[in-house]
Amino acid sequence: MVKSLQYGIKKGKNLKPKVKRNDIIDDKYSKWLGTQPCAVTGIVAERGMGANNIHCHHIHGRTPVRNDYLQVPLMGYIHSWGFSSYHSSTKADFIKHNKLLIDDVIEFFEDIAKMYVEKYIDEGNEILCSYDDIFKKQNN
Ligand SMILES: [Zn+2]
Repeated sequence: MVKSLQYGIKKGKNLKPKVKRNDIIDDKYSKWLGTQPCAVTGIVAERGMGANNIHCHHIHGRTPVRNDYLQVPLMGYIHSWGFSSYHSSTKADFIKHNKLLIDDVIEFFEDIAKMYVEKYIDEGNEILCSYDDIFKKQNN
């Protein structure tokens, strides 16, 4: 992906978000996560920005704290493309539309995020902080 397309170029400045003090950033993990099946559909696809690509969704967004281990892979059309996607729906409508047998989509995503971190570690990869630090309450 061309960086200028991904983040936008304004007055020659790269708008890639600045790393903040408590951010947990692991590009290697994000790259790996992008090869994993979509949390909702189970579909495996190439990572990209399109409706039929895998996107890596930050469960709690990137602000105030970004945590790359709290991401889930989602197909573009599940994530952000179209009126029924996650970012275009209420949480209740998203659950209904995707016929998910869950009460809380955030908890559902967090469980899947944990499962993927454990899978990553099981495959012999290292994470950049302690496992407990990943899932402790984010309070700033
Ligand atoms: Zn997202």
